[in-house]
Amino acid sequence: MFKIDLHTHTIASGHAFGTVQENAREAKNKGIELLGITDHGSAMGGAAYEFYFRCGNRLPKNIEGVRILFGVEANVIDDAGQLDLSDNILKNLDFVIVGIHYDCGYIDQGVEKNTETLIKAMQNPYVKIVSHPYWSMMPVDIEAIAKEAVKKNILLEINASFFYTNKLEDEVMWGKMKKMIKILKESGQKMILNSDAHSPYEVGRFQEVVDKFGELGIDEGDLLNDDVEGVLKFLGKE
Ligand SMILES: [Zn+2]
Ligand SMILES: [Zn+2]
Repeated sequence: MFKIDLHTHTIASGHAFGTVQENAREAKNKGIELLGITDHGSAMGGAAYEFYFRCGNRLPKNIEGVRILFGVEANVIDDAGQLDLSDNILKNLDFVIVGIHYDCGYIDQGVEKNTETLIKAMQNPYVKIVSHPYWSMMPVDIEAIAKEAVKKNILLEINASFFYTNKLEDEVMWGKMKKMIKILKESGQKMILNSDAHSPYEVGRFQEVVDKFGELGIDEGDLLNDDVEGVLKFLGKE
């Protein structure tokens, strides 16, 4: 059922280990049909200069038989919720994930301000997905973010890397993730499961999170990961 992995990094992120071709090859091995290449936006140390993101049209649409979407995991850079690539660049990408990370311009100001800022970032018309909104690194009010996601029809992510890298000791984070899932389910809004691979070996690595689906309250039908056509349509792609 997992035909889609929309969030993977390459060496262009500065701290990941694979190439686009290697990610595509592993995607094919795992039965992934639709793969997102979403390197970190330029504000993150070591990430690609904006010109990299202008060159997505130099990649084939299919590599190793896998449909490739070239996007970005953009960073929030200030209190106005601005992203680290201009709309001019964002509009030419296949899709945009927004993720709020530290050391990328925006500084943690506590839950209320962080939430307000992320909601501002979600008003950017190119944003289609929010990555790991329950991360304690930049705490937000998950209820407010989930409600805004439903309102704006933005997908919230179940990030598999939190499971396969054991980033979830924190009870608060578990609680937030469960709350997010509950709100989205009640609203009939589907979620997307992504690997957030930082090496090709992690592309499509979902088993550790699948093992926790029962605990998290996720049913397969809550995820969009088996609907390639639906996701392409949602992203405005063919
Ligand atoms: Zn991230
Ligand atoms: Zn990422």
